[in-house]
Amino acid sequence: MSASAPADPHAHAAPLVPGPARGLGDASPGPVSRGYPGTEALSSAFTATDYRQALEDSNAGGRPLSLALRLPFCQHACYHCMRHPVLTTDRRRADAYLSRLDREMVLLGRHLGSRREVRGLHWGGGSPTFLTLNQMGDLIDRLDARFRLARGRDRDFGIEIDPRDADVLTLRHLEALGFNRLTLSVLDLDARVLQAINRPQSRGLTEQLLDEADRLGFRSLDMELTIGLPLQSREGFAATLEQILAMAPARLTLFPYLHRPERFPPQRHIPAGDLPGTEAQGAMRRAAHDRLVDAGYVHLGWDRYARQGGSLKDARAQWRRQAECDILGLGVGALSRLEGAWARNASGLADFEAALDDGGLPTATGRWLSRDDRLRAQAIEALMTRETLDLEALGQAFAIDAAAELATALDRLQAIGLVTRRGQRLDLVAPGTRWAGELTRAFGVASP
Ligand code: SF4
Repeated sequence: MSASAPADPHAHAAPLVPGPARGLGDASPGPVSRGYPGTEALSSAFTATDYRQALEDSNAGGRPLSLALRLPFCQHACYHCMRHPVLTTDRRRADAYLSRLDREMVLLGRHLGSRREVRGLHWGGGSPTFLTLNQMGDLIDRLDARFRLARGRDRDFGIEIDPRDADVLTLRHLEALGFNRLTLSVLDLDARVLQAINRPQSRGLTEQLLDEADRLGFRSLDMELTIGLPLQSREGFAATLEQILAMAPARLTLFPYLHRPERFPPQRHIPAGDLPGTEAQGAMRRAAHDRLVDAGYVHLGWDRYARQGGSLKDARAQWRRQAECDILGLGVGALSRLEGAWARNASGLADFEAALDDGGLPTATGRWLSRDDRLRAQAIEALMTRETLDLEALGQAFAIDAAAELATALDRLQAIGLVTRRGQRLDLVAPGTRWAGELTRAFGVASP
């Protein structure tokens, strides 16, 4: 679907983090794929054997599960893409991939306690809606056969929708399969901007899907916009935002576009001169934040917003539920986040398939989480979701002197003007107008 922060090209393919330690309050945790320690901190020294051990260790806590599936196929190359999709118009190509996913489910199931319920499910891309309706149904059947899928109203089953691949029939089918949350990749509504990234899609398509999602009773619809795309201007993006606000989506996410053509070849189609500068991007971000707050949206942290009232309550409740889950990533490049470790699958399709064909899990990298990792993750989480951090409470939760242990990071955060400090209290400067990735990077990454 849409591109996201470069630290993790699949950032919104897998949603949420373990919650704060006791004693740190009950702020809802946010999406962590751009959180700490981040995928760049994972090491190939962590193997499939480690991951199997981490899975078995996780059974002791008996936490519910959230499955994050990566479905990497796309029909067309978007020039701004920060993922590595498999480009094809042949939908039958997904059949072999779905068989491999089934094999991965079986292998994972061998290390998981049978009573662990799957309360969260997320299909990310590529474009999950590349799959035919039959392939989607088949995949849900396989998941149902291999895991204990929750049936209650409180399950959170979401899917990313490419408006160009989906119509009202797709939404009806997804609803019948048990999905109750949608993410719609809109990016921008300015035809010139969409043309510049080779992704023409009309506002009419988006409106039609939004109306049908409302009619079918999906619990939430999150519209994703991206700031920093070629030919974007402050005025143009403000006009897009007004049109989006007129549709009154329950949730909105603003993603930053970062230009890395050496890493993401399709971006070479974008002339650097067409990109808005850093200052213009910052101005768009601040203006968008102010307008959203004005229009009754609340900044949840991690670049996400929810409409005040029922939507906000629902978003916070979902984040709390997700925080209770261990997240298992399935598919090429998928990221798993357990309480004790992160693990990532091979990001090349050939390597992913070869590992499974050899009968092993396709783990390529990972990291056992140290106490220092958890400490930093919780400090970031508090700043991103509550916009403040109580170092004393953090220290008590870990039985350490948090200010001393985080001294270097705290100095850096103050030096770059991200936080102000009064004694044991840190406050985020201009919350909602800085990207989540800035904060994570400022904390640095501890050695594995
Ligand atoms: S090519 Fe696919 S994954 Fe990349 S931005 Fe476009 S729809 Fe999303």
